[in-house]
Parts: sequence; structure tokens; C-alpha cells
Amino acid sequence: MAASLANSTAMDEAAARPDRTIPRGHERDCAMADTIAILGDTWSFLVAREAFFSARRFNDFHERLGIPRATLTATLDKLVEAEIFEPRELDEARRWKGYFLTERGLDLYPVFLSLLAFGDRWLQPGCPPLALFHLDCRSWFSPRVAWAENGQAVDAREVRFAIAPDYWRPARAAPARQRRPWRDGQVVGRRPCSVERTLSIIGDRWTFLILREFFHGNERFDEIHQNLGIATNILSGRLKNLVAGGLLERAAGGAAYALTPTGWDLFAPLALMKAWADRWLRPGRTPTLSFLDPAGRILTPRLVCPHCGEAVPARRVRFITGYHL
Ligand SMILES: [Zn+2]
Repeated sequence: MAASLANSTAMDEAAARPDRTIPRGHERDCAMADTIAILGDTWSFLVAREAFFSARRFNDFHERLGIPRATLTATLDKLVEAEIFEPRELDEARRWKGYFLTERGLDLYPVFLSLLAFGDRWLQPGCPPLALFHLDCRSWFSPRVAWAENGQAVDAREVRFAIAPDYWRPARAAPARQRRPWRDGQVVGRRPCSVERTLSIIGDRWTFLILREFFHGNERFDEIHQNLGIATNILSGRLKNLVAGGLLERAAGGAAYALTPTGWDLFAPLALMKAWADRWLRPGRTPTLSFLDPAGRILTPRLVCPHCGEAVPARRVRFITGYHL
């Protein structure tokens, strides 16, 4: 009797959290990772960011970022290929070409602002380097990520996940060598930028994958080790960094960790990244992962101005910076 009760409890739990345990030899096919793959590369992110600060010409990017010319050429090509940028003739006589954000690129704006809000809140001591003004309601605002369906703030602790049958895909070989372009505390692109600080955390492939396991309810060293097939020394090192960075804390007893309020808060930008990738990189495909409210209704994250509750596309925002370039 006791045994069958225990079994049914375990089964209920498995049914409630179908996203939790990765079947052996498989991995999560989750759209978040697709966006990270584009923005997690330092220079791609910085070049796209400068486009939101109205950079258009090759030399705009080159001068503002101090990026080597060959690297800039390769990065612009990559962003054109990813359909984030579209090259257009600026001046036919002088053969100047400009790089413009496409609709897809412009739609990254909420992702950028959510990373900015996260960085301002948790990683940037003192006054935020960038202040935002919403033209529609004439208010200075700190962006917030809320569910479009009910207006409530996105909180990973409250949300349920549903997965499609194709969510688990056969594991692919990891990239042979991962570049570590980010260094702690180093400003690469000259601007003091909260987004850059945030991406320096999740742009690291293992760190992102480990954090994602926590959002799926896995908090124990052995669970994460088994789910990711990660070497124990790499896992230990990343967990240590995440504790030092204030995103995780050691739970009593030692073998488990827990997200801190900072760690939980990182879910909001990741939710927007997932939604962006579902819209633009996987059009026409049923999302492999869905967010649900307690009643099982699908939730869609969006970035809003807390004053008026409306979404804030790039065209409706002005800003001032607290620094000079
Ligand atoms: Zn507003």
C-alpha cells in the first residue's frame, strides 16, 4: 500500500513536471538557446546594440566599439545572414552602405531592454547608465516583463511548463572549442552597459545550460550532472561562479543549490528570448515549450512600461545616457 502510494506520488510529479528529466542521449530543444547563440557572441551583441543607438555605417560601428575592421566585417556578415541587419545603399555616389535593423532585428529591442533592466537592478551599482522615456505616456520608466494575457509580472516560480513531443531531441556534439570572449568586469564595447554585464553571465554556454536546469526544477548537483552530461569539474566551477556572482546559493546540506532572487529574476529576459526565437527562427512550428498559468492557459511574455502597462517598441522610446562616449 505504502509502496503504491509512493509510486503514484512519483508519477503525479512526473506528469506535473514533464520538462524536468532529460531522457538519456537527448537534450532540450528550446528556443531560448537559439537566441543566446546569436546574442551570446560578444561582438554580435555589441554591434546590434549600437544599431539601437543609431549606428548605420561601417565606420560608426568601428569607431564606437573599437572593433578590429576584419572582425566587424565578419560580424556584420553574420548579422545580415541572421536577418537581423539589412544592408542598404546610403549614398550611391560615394558608395556608402548602411546597415539597418530589419523587423526581426527591431523586435530584439524588448530582449535588450529586459537584459538592461536586469543588469541595472542587480549588477550595476549606483545610477543606471541609461534612462528610458516612453513617448506614449510621457513617463520615464524601468521596463518590466509581464504576461500579455493577464498583466502579471513574469515569475518563474509561478509558471508551469508544457512540452511538445519534439522537445527532446537527440543530443548534438558540443562545439569543439568554446570561445570565452567575456572577461569579468571588462567593458569591451566602451559603453558602460548593463546588458553587456548580463550577457557576460548567460553568454557562457555551460552557465546558461546550468541556470536553465534550475528553472526546470533541478537543483541538485547529481541531477544537473546527469541531465547535461557535463564534466563534474566544469559543473563545480560554474556553480561556484554562480554562487560568487549572487545568482545561486548553497542550500543547507550541501548537495543542492537554490536560485537567489537575482537568479530567479533572470528568467524574464530568457522568456523573452524564447518568445523571440519562436516568432522569428521557428515560424509556423508549434513551440516545443510553452508557459502556462495555473489553469493551463498559454502565457506570452512581453516587455511593458509599468506606468501605462503597454508594450514598448523601439520607435516609441527615447533615452538619455549618464556618460559620454
Ligand atoms: Zn508608458
